[in-house]
Amino acid sequence: MFPNRVLNKTGSSILSFVALLVLTVAGCSETNTNEAKNSVKSLKVQETTSSQTGKTKIVTTFLPMYIFTKAVTGDAADVEILVPPGTEVHEYQATPNNVKAIATANVLVKNGLGLEEFLENTVKNAQNPKLAQIDASKNIKPLNQISPVEKTAKEEHKHAEGNPHVWLDPVLAKQQVINIRDGLIVADPANKATYEANAANYIKQLESLNNEFEQTLKKTPNCTFVTFHDAYPYLAQRYKLKQLAVVEIPEDQLTPVDVKNAVNAVKKYKIKALFSEPGVDNKLLTSLSKDLNLTLRPLDSLETGKTDPQYYFEAMKANLQTLETACK
Ligand SMILES: [Zn+2]
Repeated sequence: MFPNRVLNKTGSSILSFVALLVLTVAGCSETNTNEAKNSVKSLKVQETTSSQTGKTKIVTTFLPMYIFTKAVTGDAADVEILVPPGTEVHEYQATPNNVKAIATANVLVKNGLGLEEFLENTVKNAQNPKLAQIDASKNIKPLNQISPVEKTAKEEHKHAEGNPHVWLDPVLAKQQVINIRDGLIVADPANKATYEANAANYIKQLESLNNEFEQTLKKTPNCTFVTFHDAYPYLAQRYKLKQLAVVEIPEDQLTPVDVKNAVNAVKKYKIKALFSEPGVDNKLLTSLSKDLNLTLRPLDSLETGKTDPQYYFEAMKANLQTLETACK
């Protein structure tokens, strides 16, 4: 995803928010003061009620962490998400509401491996000494050497702690669910049985997804593909495919020379498939697709999508189908 695009989106939503605010304030008159007071009161009452549900409050960082956590808790805990789906996680800037959410939470679930760069300061600002933190990537060995393709000019999206996209490998996703489950049992032992049962059920589905991937992709060994951003090295390694990560660059800063260099670099390899992301229109990928005479298909990195825990399987099965078609 392009930071610029996200900025534009945020900019326009701030504008419309301000417009709305002006309208609301303009519509307010003296006679409405009581009404306003009442609504403030009812808001406070609501807040007290929700904290009185007695449920453990869990904040998660971005979509896959929300999905896995919700799969483990079901309705046994209150689960929130800090980075709204559709907002870029790699270069996310925390909001005051994020700080507030962490300040009042019992547990924080993160992907780790340096993905959530915004988190360190946000947690510091929240000053919540009782916060338990779960690193979902605990005990997962990160991949550093991602692709054999030489790097292009821009490297905005560098990860100091290795590649963080472990959730896109169903086997590592299972490890993340186990880490989340075990962390939640320590933080909220009263719901141990629920967390164990829910996690077992979800893990069973992850195992069957892994089987499906294995059975399907063993027919196309070493299929080499190019992606929009380097989200699939774990998936590629797991199923013996090869990912070239040459296109990890914000679109707006690409020069024709950048595009040409990248096209030439990629031409050295036997590329079977070319993947974009849902809703992404990338100049470099379009050039590559023309030059290599390959169809550009969308692959979902699950950094945005539906918050239903079953969405993971929906998106990953669609990805498998795309991989199968493209690698044939
Ligand atoms: Zn990513």
